[in-house]
Amino acid sequence: MRAAITRYEATHQAMGTEFTLVAYGDDPQYLTAVGNEVFEEIDRLEGQMSIYKPKSELSVINRTAASRSVCVEPKLFELLVNAADHSQSTGGAFDVTAGPLMKAWGFFRGKGRVPANSEIAQVLRRVGYRHVHLNRAERTIRFDREGLELDLGAIGKGYAVDRAVDILRRYGVTRALVSSGTSSLYALGAPPGACGWSISLRNPYDSEKAANVIYLRNCSLSTSGDYEKFFKVGAKRYAHILNPSTGKPVENMLAVIVLAVSACDADALSTAFYVMGVERSREYLATHRDLTALFYQPLSRGKRFRRVMLHSAGLNAMGAFFSTSTDRKRGATRAEPARIRRRASSCHISGNWATAH
Ligand code: ADP
Ligand code: MG
Repeated sequence: MRAAITRYEATHQAMGTEFTLVAYGDDPQYLTAVGNEVFEEIDRLEGQMSIYKPKSELSVINRTAASRSVCVEPKLFELLVNAADHSQSTGGAFDVTAGPLMKAWGFFRGKGRVPANSEIAQVLRRVGYRHVHLNRAERTIRFDREGLELDLGAIGKGYAVDRAVDILRRYGVTRALVSSGTSSLYALGAPPGACGWSISLRNPYDSEKAANVIYLRNCSLSTSGDYEKFFKVGAKRYAHILNPSTGKPVENMLAVIVLAVSACDADALSTAFYVMGVERSREYLATHRDLTALFYQPLSRGKRFRRVMLHSAGLNAMGAFFSTSTDRKRGATRAEPARIRRRASSCHISGNWATAH
């Protein structure tokens, strides 16, 4: 007789957010052991990549790479190469050296502040991925300018999700959902009896409402939203995604959702497309494969928004299906039976999306 399928679900605080792992299998103890290993790896990555920890490898690089070449751990080096590639291919819309700008705008440990234009101009001299030199033969990094700082805030959580999925695959887990809070997730396989993991994307003006529902299978999703981290001065809102060419927070965008094969790419590109806007992103997608981007742009009056969905060139190999129903209570889709709808609300994932199974 076949063992019954059980569901494992656990959450873990790391990287300033709440990671969630949902997995199905026939041995609850085994799933728990795999889950523990996943969360240990995420803690290890945080210890290596955090700019909030002075002893992390990234902090050491930030302090020393302007004065000498620094040897980098192989996996972190791979991630830095990936980040540099994204910086290049997006024309610097994603810029891994945005750290000094984040500090100038008070997003690092601060409450937010508006720097003077002269200060922004000064800070921009310490920003620019072109000042970062990666030597692949020696696996070293070197900055050609004082004051440069790497910030993996727009790629690290997606990367951590990918590493978690590597572990799940290695241990033979075939049905799981891993999410890094409101940033990125990967849908591995599908829940028993379902075509994919059901993800409800929040309405940018109301976290209790779904703006879209997507079913994902072997696909990742990442969101960049103006509601995630922001401060207000009077009625004006300043959000944490900065345009590296102006040194200022991006305006006129509520959220960008990217579907990609890897969560690392989805994470970097949701930030990049947020900066690039619809038309520049369209150009990017014309020359890249296996990507879908969904933009929520504000409309001039009221809390209304416009959706724009773009697909990359060629055949998209991703397992993603959009539900047409929107703006209902979050956490369930109309097509699903009531039994599943009730269960959906109990597995709400950290504010930004919810699973229906
Ligand atoms: P989240 O942290 O919610 O996943 P994002 O993936 O959009 O959101 O990443 C935003 C973070 O990335 C910021 O908090 C900051 O650390 C960093 N950042 C801001 N602007 C840029 C940019 N243009 N390029 C790269 N990183 C950025
Ligand atoms: Mg991102």
